[in-house]
Amino acid sequence: MGPGRFGGPPPHEMNEKLKEPLPKSIKEIPGFIKRLTHSFFFRLSYIIKLVWEAKKSLLFIMVFLAAFNGISPVISAYISANLLNKVALALTLPDKVLSSIVDLVLPAMLLQFAYMFFTNLVNTVGNIITRMSSELVTNHVKVKIMNKAKEIDIASFDRPEFYEKFENASREAGARPIQVINSTFNIVSNLISAVSFIVILSAISWTAPLIVILLSLPSAIITFYYRKKNFRYMRRRSNDRRKMNYYSDMLVNKDMVKELRLFNLSDTFIFNYNQVFKNYFGGIKKLIRNEGIWNLAIAFVTTAVNCILFFFIAYTVAVQNGQIGDYSLYTGALTSIAACVAALVTTTSTIYEGTLFIDNMIVFMNEKKTIVPAIDQPLSIKRGVGHTIEFKDVSFRYPGTNRDVIKHINFTIEPGDTVVMVGLNGAGKTTLIKLLTRLYDPTEGTILLDGHDIKEYKVEELYAMFGIIFQDFGKYAFTVSKNIEFGQIEKQYKEEDIHTAAKASSADAFIQSLPNGYDTPLMRIFEDNGIELSIGQWQKLSIARAFYSDSDILILDEPTASLDPLAEQEIFSQFDELRKDKTTFFVSHRLSSATVASKILVLENGKLIETGDHNELMKKRGAYYQLFSTQAKRYLSAKEEDSVRTHPPHD
Ligand code: ADP
Repeated sequence: MGPGRFGGPPPHEMNEKLKEPLPKSIKEIPGFIKRLTHSFFFRLSYIIKLVWEAKKSLLFIMVFLAAFNGISPVISAYISANLLNKVALALTLPDKVLSSIVDLVLPAMLLQFAYMFFTNLVNTVGNIITRMSSELVTNHVKVKIMNKAKEIDIASFDRPEFYEKFENASREAGARPIQVINSTFNIVSNLISAVSFIVILSAISWTAPLIVILLSLPSAIITFYYRKKNFRYMRRRSNDRRKMNYYSDMLVNKDMVKELRLFNLSDTFIFNYNQVFKNYFGGIKKLIRNEGIWNLAIAFVTTAVNCILFFFIAYTVAVQNGQIGDYSLYTGALTSIAACVAALVTTTSTIYEGTLFIDNMIVFMNEKKTIVPAIDQPLSIKRGVGHTIEFKDVSFRYPGTNRDVIKHINFTIEPGDTVVMVGLNGAGKTTLIKLLTRLYDPTEGTILLDGHDIKEYKVEELYAMFGIIFQDFGKYAFTVSKNIEFGQIEKQYKEEDIHTAAKASSADAFIQSLPNGYDTPLMRIFEDNGIELSIGQWQKLSIARAFYSDSDILILDEPTASLDPLAEQEIFSQFDELRKDKTTFFVSHRLSSATVASKILVLENGKLIETGDHNELMKKRGAYYQLFSTQAKRYLSAKEEDSVRTHPPHD
């Protein structure tokens, strides 16, 4: 759900709002400040909406706590001053009898402690509720980000800057909203307190609070300046932070640990990590140090001025024949005003920083989706029938690159065809499948499904009609049956179907031998009794997943690469039996599988250089013939070698 839900501006306008070009002349300054305030409140309202969505009552509780915390120090100061005056009076009593001291001091003291307890009570309850709610807000934001990630174009995942946004959004967005909201209400409390104390102090002077406020200005400027610098620095360095994460993750990545140990790479990654950290730290160290030096200088001036102000208060109370409690009240008020103003500065800067970080989330949430139906009333796909697929002059380059990896490809697939794609690594076979399944849109040309551009169909219906297993298929840390069921999770679960699919992919035999059969948890990430499968077993399982789905078009991208030729042959024959009249696409390195194809597509450097069935292409004596003959020769000589080894010739 995007920000538009609240009736806010459309995404592109929102992104515009986040940019604040610096003023070029004095005339532009008022406009600049207006824009700055506008974008600040725009971000703040975005955060408030996030919290509102997550937990409405949290906002009400926070308003109450803010008001209470604002007024509470003032009440407290009065109660303390009252007690101090009573104690001072007790000191001057001519006869120090217990009962008269009790009469004089005890009520004031009880009031003070009762009030302290009440404050504690309100704050503790408030704290409990805030902490619980902040967990809910964090959860809400994370789920929101996941839901957005779910619908983002696959193409976005190819771009480093997308990862940057994603990383920034998911790292920061959880904790920041609640921090900003807390700080905002803190400001309200501090403002209430500051104004009340100024009113108290106005009894003896207006100048003193004014001086205190003016004194805080340099500190405010320095704090804001460094918050912005800090934010910019972090943004500039986010690539470094990602690198650091990458290096440190390598050392704990289960798939990488074998190579890291045997190639002795661990120290190299630790070294790289430290190198990047050194660069990052060099910059942040300078920022922290400079801000510290400025703050120290400001603190020196502030202390000196405060000393003068305290003396002025002592002098005024003495001249006006005031009491000791009055001195404590006024100096307390002055200190509190200074503290409130300081808190206002730091909390405003925290909010400011928080809102800048929330930009990452806003930008991420506004990431545009391009894989959407191209027409207002997208078409439905007729299921359970044969389909015609036509590529018309299709070219494609990956976003952010300048090389076509698919070049002007034309072909037609009839219902029920078995298509085998052949070509060397990098020829464009997987890319072609990504285009057919609309994970990416072609840069040129059209892909037609049953006579209509695939862009005209409902995307989820289009996705649902493909049963697909990629080369880098998914391995899920779930049970065996779940791993198969994920082939079509929305289908009515039937154990029998799971078993049929597993039998067809020859996975059933090894599954039966697992400790808990189909209920065995896979991978040892969460459970001690999780089972690690061999890559060939995983592959059989992934093929079972494809068999399990009721898709109309089956696509297997090098599904049998890790299987021995016998296992592959067995799966293919099962497949032929099961596929009925479904259209199937195979990408296979082993050309023996191409012999059964009704259509072979030979790809080279992104071009379709030959099409036809096995016999036609062999007759043609072109690229396919070359590939096939080379493989057959290699296969035959391997077989001969094998037979020589098993039956050594007699001398
Ligand atoms: P095949 O499946 O035939 O081995 P691919 O379709 O995977 O080949 O790759 C075709 C070309 O596209 C290769 O040159 C590869 O480097 C490039 N390529 C693949 N994926 C991406 C990507 N996500 N971004 C940029 N280039 C890519």
